[in-house]
Amino acid sequence: MEKSGNKRYLVTWSDGKTDLTKASNLLGITADKCKAGVSFMETDAIPGKDDVMHFENLGITSMELTSDEAVNLLEKEGILAVEEDTEMHILELPQNEEYNSFLGSNANLEPIPSESPDFRNGYNKALTDMFASMLKLGQADLQAPAIAGNPVPGPFFWPFPILKKQAIPWNINLVKAPQAWARGFNGSGIKVAVLDTGIATHPDLVVAGGVSFIPGVVSYNDGNSHGTHCAGIIGARNNWIGVVGVAPLCELYAVKVLADSGSGSSSGIIAGMEWCITNGIKVASMSLGSTSGPSVAWANAIKHCQDNGVTVVCASGNSYVDTSPVFPWVNAPANSFVMGARTASPIAVGAVDLASLIAYFSSRGGQNENWNQVTLVAPGVNINSTIPGNGYGKKSGTSMATPHVAGIAALVCQRFPGILPVGVKARLAQTATNLGPAGFDLTYGYGLINCDSATL
Ligand code: CA
Repeated sequence: MEKSGNKRYLVTWSDGKTDLTKASNLLGITADKCKAGVSFMETDAIPGKDDVMHFENLGITSMELTSDEAVNLLEKEGILAVEEDTEMHILELPQNEEYNSFLGSNANLEPIPSESPDFRNGYNKALTDMFASMLKLGQADLQAPAIAGNPVPGPFFWPFPILKKQAIPWNINLVKAPQAWARGFNGSGIKVAVLDTGIATHPDLVVAGGVSFIPGVVSYNDGNSHGTHCAGIIGARNNWIGVVGVAPLCELYAVKVLADSGSGSSSGIIAGMEWCITNGIKVASMSLGSTSGPSVAWANAIKHCQDNGVTVVCASGNSYVDTSPVFPWVNAPANSFVMGARTASPIAVGAVDLASLIAYFSSRGGQNENWNQVTLVAPGVNINSTIPGNGYGKKSGTSMATPHVAGIAALVCQRFPGILPVGVKARLAQTATNLGPAGFDLTYGYGLINCDSATL
């Protein structure tokens, strides 16, 4: 009988309405030991072995148990499952990243902002007046000198500044986001949460708010770069610098559920999902996972999110080429299958390259009827986006494909106010551009997301 080596477990309640008092009664612990998980974990507290964290909106409790206690607990009334709290990881390929300059490598040189004579004359007059005032000179003193080709002195014409204009990255064009923007669908007013390593401050990002569920860490700053990169794919601003995201006017929220190492506990991610429900988040982007099968806790957490208006988008995984152990299938939590309600299962996202071919690493469906399969694909190879330090860099992985789908989900939420998560998923599937065999298949799902047709 093993008594040492407690582990943290996720207890899933069969009644989704089990509140804090009911949970502590059923678990036989005093109410002071059973804490509301979100408010406990958003502080700098480090959960100890006696700290039981309850997530009322998801019907899940996180607690430390011995393996014997876990087996015994499962016998109790009202408990659907007792499963180990596994670690989840960023789904980014290890690679040598190419970092570009502050302004991005793909910027074009273009004069701003208008060629109109009125603008040019006003600009010229404003600069002449300003210099005349600064130098205490009359207008006549600011005449251009006689030079070859222009022998008569005349008004000085100030050169226009040359700024770099942001180009549209290939991946944003591939998913046809600019066509949706042209009709006014840019994510405006839609709250999108990035459940990741946090988001760093960046001149190409506007972060509306956030929270950290990493033990001992209060700031949602990103010490990894994965979360900042994903955030840029969703919502980098449409301006004169760097890149632009799929939904450049959405409201980005940084929900730090992965430490700067790139990993985090399932409990912390569960906390992030409950935070999304209570904070009016419409889309949760989860570029994270592990090579394991579906669990009851994940299926329930995702179903509760979607029942409460949060569309859950998860990376399919990068394990197609894994050899030891062999796990070519869709990773957890993307593989969570809500029994009897496939439509309430998460949107699982695979990665394609710039030729719309499946990435060699992108995890595939097909292993089991009762696992969620690949739903859609999006660009996920050599994607340029925002990184900490005011820069830009390229990354690959289904982690990069996932935020494209979170972005299009925001566009669809703006296009169809009040649409439910099942409706968002159906809309994205119906309007996707088929790839591979005709119709749904286990590699590409319903195909490549299409922002143009999804927002018609
Ligand atoms: Ca930009």
